[in-house]
Amino acid sequence: MTITPLMPVYPRCGVRPVRGEGCYLISEDGGRYLDMAAGIAVNALGHGHPHLVQAIADQAATLMHVSNLYGSPQGEALAERIVAHSFADTVFFTNSGTEAVECAIKTARRYHYANGNPQRHTIITFNNAFHGRTMGAISATNQPKMRDGFEPLLPGFAYAPFNDLAAALALVDDHTAGFMVETIQGEGGVSVATPEFLQGLRQACDAHGLLLILDEVQCGYGRTGKMWAYEHYGIEPDIMSVAKGIGGGFPLGACLATEEAAKGMVIGTHGSTYGGNPLAMAAGQAVLDVMLADGFLDHVATMGERLRGALEQLIPNHDHVFEGVRGKGLMLGLKLKAGVEPREFVAHARDNHNLLLVAAGENVVRILPPLVIEDEHVAECIEKLSDAARVFAPASDD
Ligand SMILES: *Cc1c(COP(=O)(O)O)cnc(C)c1O
Repeated sequence: MTITPLMPVYPRCGVRPVRGEGCYLISEDGGRYLDMAAGIAVNALGHGHPHLVQAIADQAATLMHVSNLYGSPQGEALAERIVAHSFADTVFFTNSGTEAVECAIKTARRYHYANGNPQRHTIITFNNAFHGRTMGAISATNQPKMRDGFEPLLPGFAYAPFNDLAAALALVDDHTAGFMVETIQGEGGVSVATPEFLQGLRQACDAHGLLLILDEVQCGYGRTGKMWAYEHYGIEPDIMSVAKGIGGGFPLGACLATEEAAKGMVIGTHGSTYGGNPLAMAAGQAVLDVMLADGFLDHVATMGERLRGALEQLIPNHDHVFEGVRGKGLMLGLKLKAGVEPREFVAHARDNHNLLLVAAGENVVRILPPLVIEDEHVAECIEKLSDAARVFAPASDD
């Protein structure tokens, strides 16, 4: 038998973390890494944050799980808090980002069904989108690497180029339910939506009775220096998927919606055995305790500006490797020069400089630190990046 017990779907590297301390990961062999990947934007409070650890430990000892057949004081409390700090009127808790996306798709379809328009089922999504790995979520992207071999996919999706408002509007017809878009594309390459694009989609939704679904699984929850990335645009969605940072490392996601958009989601239409259990709710509360405290989001914005500024200064000294910086807050992308392979640079920074980064599309390396980073971590990151770039000779460079 050659297949590994752990299904071999990931290209796992040689680093094998066994412990985390703030912004650092410690591997099985004792190596210490500056973690500028944060579990792909998940460990918002870094590793081992005492408030989060305590909340999970206390809740585990008190009540870990009950089914959704019972009243949920824990779920009500977290949902109320999220509603109070967002556009939403109601929240469905999931265990992952892709399930939050599924719930968003179902909510949008049910809305039109409840309005007597079941033919309005098609959701327009965008090139390079990443919405997760369920059948619904892979149907919502046109990236072949995620879809190949899994056909037939779910019908009812159409695809337009990202940031191309005219192309998106040209796809609208009698079957359109709405648009689903990442406010900032993460896996796709830290591509930031333009204000004209998002505001134009919002206007089209208002004009034609369509729903705007934002996927803020990666860019939401404080990552950009505001609680939600849409706050940078002066618009609000009708439905939004969130996850990643929401549990600070505990598996948790949520689908947020307005009362109007959620009108079809009545008793029996959706569910999840684990979704919103007391343990997950305790993790979610602990994350919000920290994130909503005075000054936290300002700290994210300040650190984001400092890191970005430092990266911009670094680039001219290493312009054989780096081309530019993109993103918002602490969701940053370093665009590499054509011919420099992001995965190779990430491996080099990791193996030779103990710096953890994440590759993305469009020849970009993502920098997604814990939101609790301080100036010393920014300085260390820049030093390691500089050292890494200085000695980096891309194999494909000729
Ligand atoms: C990570 C991600 C998802 C999927 O989340 P999972 O927790 O892996 O299911 C969906 N949408 C976006 C924008 C993401 O970044």
